[in-house]
Amino acid sequence: MSERNYLRKHKERLPVIAICYDFDKTLTPNEMQAQGYIQSLGYEANEFWNKSNGIAEDNDMDENLSYMYMMVNEFKDHHKLDRKTLEAYGAEVKLFLGVDDWFRRIREYGLERGVLVEHYIISSGIKEMIEGTEIAKKGEFEKIYASSFYFDDKGIARWPAQVVNYTNKTQFLFRIQKGTLDINDPGINDYFPPDEIRVPFRNIVYIGDSDTDIPCMKLVNTYGGFSVGVYNPAQTKDKVYKMIKDNRIKYFAPADYRENKELDLLIKNIIERTVFNEKLESRHYNCFKEAMES
Ligand SMILES: [Mg+2]
Repeated sequence: MSERNYLRKHKERLPVIAICYDFDKTLTPNEMQAQGYIQSLGYEANEFWNKSNGIAEDNDMDENLSYMYMMVNEFKDHHKLDRKTLEAYGAEVKLFLGVDDWFRRIREYGLERGVLVEHYIISSGIKEMIEGTEIAKKGEFEKIYASSFYFDDKGIARWPAQVVNYTNKTQFLFRIQKGTLDINDPGINDYFPPDEIRVPFRNIVYIGDSDTDIPCMKLVNTYGGFSVGVYNPAQTKDKVYKMIKDNRIKYFAPADYRENKELDLLIKNIIERTVFNEKLESRHYNCFKEAMES
């Protein structure tokens, strides 16, 4: 295999907290494709999902691959499916209250306390649409992991480049943990001693809304991180109640990202706890090292 220069992050002086977000119904009240794109194909959202889930079922196909197939196949009859078009639909996506300046505020809050806060998207939605949102354009995310397209030499989407479903979402947590962020970086399998891991799971926060987040939530919970379920304040809490009873999440809060709201206060508490926890962890590693060298 040829050697490539992968984007790698290494442990620095300040501890890092990685906040990982699902996108649909976590940062936005509805699926990103259902806010203009699906309608442009002449479908109602339910009709589109029923058809694409039907294709998946009839063909033992991944549900994300089947909706991407429909996106490519049906869109070409209407318009040119290129990056610009997808980004334009992404720019129309509505965000929950407070999302627009949340990332900067939380990052600043962390920095004032001596912690680097990084924001990551892990979504089964379309990367090119997420890249069209204002928050992505402002460079709020360290990395966006999502389903994406391969574009041909004319710039037309032809084939899935990446498909992110609920179980393979978890691989990105390991990439973030080790700083091997590039999707093809085989360094994800390298061994790191515990004190050289850039973002230990105890410093990972996963925020999501539903079943598709369960493997990530469970993994983060199991390894001492923080899983947070969010719900649309205009709807019921049934999903988050079930997730907390099933031990998937540790906390839930309304998807309201404004300052001094529940979610804001919760994340700030997590940051504060991390500041002290990391001091204790590094003291532990120092004690351990001294004993090993004695
Ligand atoms: Mg979701």
